[in-house]
Amino acid sequence: MKKLFIIKYAELNTKKDNIGMFLRTLKDNISKKLSKYQAEISFDKGRMFVKTHESDFHDVLKELQKVFGIHEIEVGYELENHNMETISNALIEIIKESEFHTFKVETKRSYKDYPMTSLEISKYLGGVILKNKEGIIVDVHHPEVTFFIEIRRDRAYIYFERYVGLGGYPVGTLGKGLLMLSGGIDSPVAGYLTMKRGVKLEAIYFESPPHTSVEAKNKVLRLAEILGEYGSEVKVHVIPFTQIQEAIYKSIPHDYMVTIMRRMMYRIAEKIAHQNRCKILVNGESIGQVASQTLSSMSVINEVVKIPVIRPVACFDKLEIMDLAHKIGTYVTSILPYEDCCTIFVPTHPVINPEHEKCVEYEALIPYEELILEAIKNEEVVSLSKEQSDYSEYL
Ligand code: ATP
Ligand code: MG
Repeated sequence: MKKLFIIKYAELNTKKDNIGMFLRTLKDNISKKLSKYQAEISFDKGRMFVKTHESDFHDVLKELQKVFGIHEIEVGYELENHNMETISNALIEIIKESEFHTFKVETKRSYKDYPMTSLEISKYLGGVILKNKEGIIVDVHHPEVTFFIEIRRDRAYIYFERYVGLGGYPVGTLGKGLLMLSGGIDSPVAGYLTMKRGVKLEAIYFESPPHTSVEAKNKVLRLAEILGEYGSEVKVHVIPFTQIQEAIYKSIPHDYMVTIMRRMMYRIAEKIAHQNRCKILVNGESIGQVASQTLSSMSVINEVVKIPVIRPVACFDKLEIMDLAHKIGTYVTSILPYEDCCTIFVPTHPVINPEHEKCVEYEALIPYEELILEAIKNEEVVSLSKEQSDYSEYL
């Protein structure tokens, strides 16, 4: 018998016509994730199977737990046929190694012509286990171990160790979005949640040197790299924002500075999204968190673009966002103390209910269309692959 991973992808089973595309993408994503291991991936009715060297099992499991689209991962055994004798012998081997007092057997047959029903198989194999180990009893309600048996056309599987996967859809199955990625806590979490729904991401970061440091930029690149571990690499568009920010600082009443600055960010982000076939913008705005995230602010800022803006953490409390940031591994990097361009130019009393007319009036005071084109022309695109991450020395 061969030890292997059995992968379940519950929500994907609801996709009917394009299930093939979902599964191919999942398989591709798993094989990219496991490229440094010798892994063989196959699929069959509702399951994917990953075979690899047993010495790599621990590491491979960790990698699989970072792949969206996987609902559950079982560690189990593949048997070369589905005869009762083969399954019984395998179970006898397995129980020799495991410590438990209560158990049950559950059987599934995708091969319906098998001569025994699922219930008969479970009862029979339960008897085999009882006969071959001392001091154990069956407990169908709260067993310490459940032995799952799957009978397929020409094989059988036994598994009893299960791990939860991340769920969601395989990254890439739902197109591409552009994440507005700052060095804060919220936007990486927003990116993670969007990837979870199958959306591949590119990121955009506005930097204002010399007001912002190279460390602030490297922190954003590091965050993009962490997000990349959950899907494919996240390319970062670094946009020079100094001229726009200085023009705003010089000419615009300070209470409107942040509102106008964010309208500029949105305008640039929409253009970069279109150039790169990204269908949505994604950001870490959360209702009410700061002055620029009141409903009036969001509405006045949002009105400068047509592209849909997805705000996955809009309705989360800060503590909920922080909790997720811890889980996904971005928190420690996010709280590094390097200032981003927003914190430097924040006025003492930003407007809470900005008005459309005033925005238009103030924006007429700066040649923003030219400045936007100039900023886009000078973008720097950073593709993050592990070998290139020389910025980690700054963190
Ligand atoms: P975060 O914790 O993600 O930095 P925040 O609470 O600090 O969010 P803001 O600074 O108002 O909130 O920014 C709101 C959102 O706008 C961010 O979550 C991010 O998506 C985007 N954003 C802010 N600053 C930048 C930047 N310099 N580059 C790219 N996107 C940005
Ligand atoms: Mg921020």
